[in-house]
Amino acid sequence: MTEPLPSMARGACPALARPMLTGDGYLSRVALQAAIGPAALAGLAALALRHGNGILDISARGNLQIRGLTEASAAALEADVRALDLPLREGLAVEWTPLAGLDPAEAVDPRPLGATIIAAARAVQGELAPKLSVVIETGGLIRLDHLLADIRLVAAPTADGLRWRVLLGGTAKTGTTLGLVADGDAAELVGGLLVHLSTQGPRARGRDLEPANLPASLLALLSSGESTVAESPAPPFGIFALTAGLHALRVALPFGQMRAEDLAALTAQAARAGILSLKPAPDHALIAVGSRTACEALELAARAAHLLVRAGEPLAEIAACPGAPACRSARLETHSLGRLAAEQAPLLFDGSVRLHLSGCQKGCAHPTPSTLAFAGTEGATHLVFEGKTTDTPLKRLAPRTEAAALSALSELMRLERRPGETSRDCLLRLGPRRIEAALA
Ligand code: SF4
Repeated sequence: MTEPLPSMARGACPALARPMLTGDGYLSRVALQAAIGPAALAGLAALALRHGNGILDISARGNLQIRGLTEASAAALEADVRALDLPLREGLAVEWTPLAGLDPAEAVDPRPLGATIIAAARAVQGELAPKLSVVIETGGLIRLDHLLADIRLVAAPTADGLRWRVLLGGTAKTGTTLGLVADGDAAELVGGLLVHLSTQGPRARGRDLEPANLPASLLALLSSGESTVAESPAPPFGIFALTAGLHALRVALPFGQMRAEDLAALTAQAARAGILSLKPAPDHALIAVGSRTACEALELAARAAHLLVRAGEPLAEIAACPGAPACRSARLETHSLGRLAAEQAPLLFDGSVRLHLSGCQKGCAHPTPSTLAFAGTEGATHLVFEGKTTDTPLKRLAPRTEAAALSALSELMRLERRPGETSRDCLLRLGPRRIEAALA
């Protein structure tokens, strides 16, 4: 590593060669382009123990992050990770389902197109924004619809063959639809968009592009067409069938974090059970692939390690950043509050509510809106309803009254929720005034 370690601004990424300074030291990202074997993941857990503070994250985008590094140990970590010869993602982030090629529901295997786009990105001469990403969505069991993307391709099978719906910026719901592109032209279009972005300056993002101002050669590749977005199903938890007689086990890390010792123990169990591969996955998840018997054995080990193994567990509905004391920007102990919320406000968590607990207003754990967001600030915790941590709060709570507020909202559900109504629908029906009154 030749560059001095930066304290990175919002908009930058903690890649392996450019760690980010956080409240508990430097954080390095190990982004994998493909699944790896249990022994390789055990190797990463060992490096987290050797060089960091023994805490690992799996981020909302499905990247492994090693925490608690120093400037020197981050450099050593980079060298040691590279020596493991893993399928590291370098350069532009081109993302697709972690089940690519094995998903019985996917419209097409995204990897060939992804590889062509990665090659096109390498050929771009100018500089691209560090957080630039391309998402390829193929409609399988694990969707990436909720991830922000500068350029998004959504598989759109038609009677005339495969097309891709192209969006700029935002999520699948909020991005700007450019139109449809034929499968054979998709890589050329994305490559052209990347070249065009590089001419707009090193901070240019997909959301900044005006469709009408794109080069005519790119617009000529597009046609108009259906632009509605189908609702994205929740990703499956636990064990489910893949193609080729294989099965997958999908578990999630509470608050996206795990101790390296626990991950090492889990990988040892995975190896004993005969698991073929493991992949950190979006929404702080880990996906194992193998026989059904191997997945069942690993599921027992995951339960013992207190990982989330089924839908509906309250902790699975809570997004929380490391918070205090791990992050020096934090004004809220997010993890202890999250565990209290799961215990003391059970009626809130029926699968409809997304609770976001953020140490500060930056909102690292969940940049998009959530049903309820708590954000620590100097002197008060902001409670935002149906918004992002930076939105105007419904209420400013005194420090250490957040758990009581969540209990009050759970009690509100007990009193007000109608038969068949979800918690979120109930909150929306009651509206901000009734919710605020319940917190008084
Ligand atoms: S959102 Fe959380 S992790 Fe991000 S800077 Fe704020 S306190 Fe730190």
